[in-house]
Amino acid sequence: MSAEPTPHVAVVGGGVAGLVAALRLAGGGVRVTLLEGSPKIGGKLQVSEIAGLPVDEGAEAILARRPEAVDLVRELGHGGDLVHPGTTTASILSHGALRPLPSGQVMGVPSDLRALAASQVLSPAGLARVPLDLVLPETPRGDDVSVADFIGARMGREVVDRLVEPLLGGVYAGRADRLSFESTLPAVAAAARGHRSLINAVKGVRAHAPADPGPVFATLTRGLGRFPHLIADAVTAAGGEIRTSATVRELRRTPDGWRLTIGPTRDPEALDVDAVVVACPAPPAARLLAGEVPAAARELERIETASMALITLAYPASAFRRAPHGSGYLVPSVEDRQVKAVTFSSVKWPHLRDADPGIIVARASIGRVGEEHTLQRSDEELKAAAMTELSVTCGVAELPVEARVTRWGGALPQYDVGHADRIARVRSAVAAHPGLAVAGAAYDGVGVPAVIANARSAAGRILEYLESRGDENDGQAREAEGTRP
Ligand SMILES: Cc1cc2nc3c(=O)[nH]c(=O)nc-3n(C[C@H](O)[C@H](O)[C@H](O)COP(=O)(O)OP(=O)(O)OC[C@H]3O[C@@H](n4cnc5c(N)ncnc54)[C@H](O)[C@@H]3O)c2cc1C
Repeated sequence: MSAEPTPHVAVVGGGVAGLVAALRLAGGGVRVTLLEGSPKIGGKLQVSEIAGLPVDEGAEAILARRPEAVDLVRELGHGGDLVHPGTTTASILSHGALRPLPSGQVMGVPSDLRALAASQVLSPAGLARVPLDLVLPETPRGDDVSVADFIGARMGREVVDRLVEPLLGGVYAGRADRLSFESTLPAVAAAARGHRSLINAVKGVRAHAPADPGPVFATLTRGLGRFPHLIADAVTAAGGEIRTSATVRELRRTPDGWRLTIGPTRDPEALDVDAVVVACPAPPAARLLAGEVPAAARELERIETASMALITLAYPASAFRRAPHGSGYLVPSVEDRQVKAVTFSSVKWPHLRDADPGIIVARASIGRVGEEHTLQRSDEELKAAAMTELSVTCGVAELPVEARVTRWGGALPQYDVGHADRIARVRSAVAAHPGLAVAGAAYDGVGVPAVIANARSAAGRILEYLESRGDENDGQAREAEGTRP
């Protein structure tokens, strides 16, 4: 009997999701070809130098309390490059001044009323409204509800505007009146099913946190943007192929598997494979699935994305009258400023400060969902907006020695009300097509560890399918042998 050829799987997209799926598949003994449309791998994880320091242009921190990302760094042999933030204190710009983020909160939802009062983030009226949560009857919420509707009903709108939305803004650049309570605050939402009061639900979440959980976040000394390259090296070492500048334009079913059309329309290339993992953001995934899985494509099309720009400024340390002491600050949209958050990278990451104590690097972000017009400005205008923010709020009185603008179009998928049901519908439509799986930030969490988990399970489903197909072929071959005259 002739040996079965090794199955060939294509992975579309070379961000963390695609790379992790490719690694799992290559480790599962199949032939893998990863196709990345842009000239470089990594997607939202990119690093480049500013003032001689490696500073991330996109994602910079991995949650260390979930195992997937830090464990993968260690498995790849780079555990020694992991470093943790030098401080976890952060501020909120509220009523015109920087206020400490109150202790006792979970993603901005407060549970310690004294700490909340001491922080002065809320107005006296806003503060007085919060404890009503303890006496109000249960707030009905059905299967899902917006963050603003639920938390606003329990604690008042100021908690939403001045605490929860700015914190969620750091993850989704989204609006609390559209984001799903169930999908964006899953731990709080689950606890709130068992408590009438949201304050008590948050206390419950905190009580269940491990006593000594260790550092919350980690990064790599040469930037988190190195992470995709470490994964890619492991993919190629396991025999996988990684192609860049290879945009997949079409996906079609064939009698034996799938045909991908790659490259420019005038010079297309066809690649026939046994199975495919579509690991690109929702808009291109919708376009690729439109022909064969229109039901999934229609759902993915409806996932909106937020665009943003990160302006990285390298100042001489003397530019700050007082050296910044926290990791940065968040700016609620009700403050009506152009910048929505500032990270003091040199304070948050001591390895950057140690590499050059004479430089303070700050990263300012601009742009929320539906505010694309704010990004239709020149790089010089965006740099000026970021410098003005640092001058007004932190008294910075000098120009940066270097400034860099990174634009992220369609950067962050919005997990709007009903997101979990939408993703269930996408998955069930995709599952009807053997040898097809989807992965990435649009599905079960935008953070890097969640994306890793979801990419591994997508690759796992493909391996299971290929195995079952192999068993079926073996069975048919044995049957054919048995019936041979
Ligand atoms: C500015 C910013 C800061 C962030 N900060 C953090 C952070 O600190 N911590 C954290 O955990 N998360 C952070 N995130 C979120 C996290 O980085 C992303 O959710 C995650 O990296 C997404 O990975 P992905 O592989 O799903 O998608 P992507 O990184 O978007 O990768 C998808 C890839 O698919 C490619 N592609 C698209 N269409 C095609 C096609 N047709 N053919 C071939 N290739 C295609 C793209 O070029 C891209 O490289 C941040 C996100 C942004 C934008």
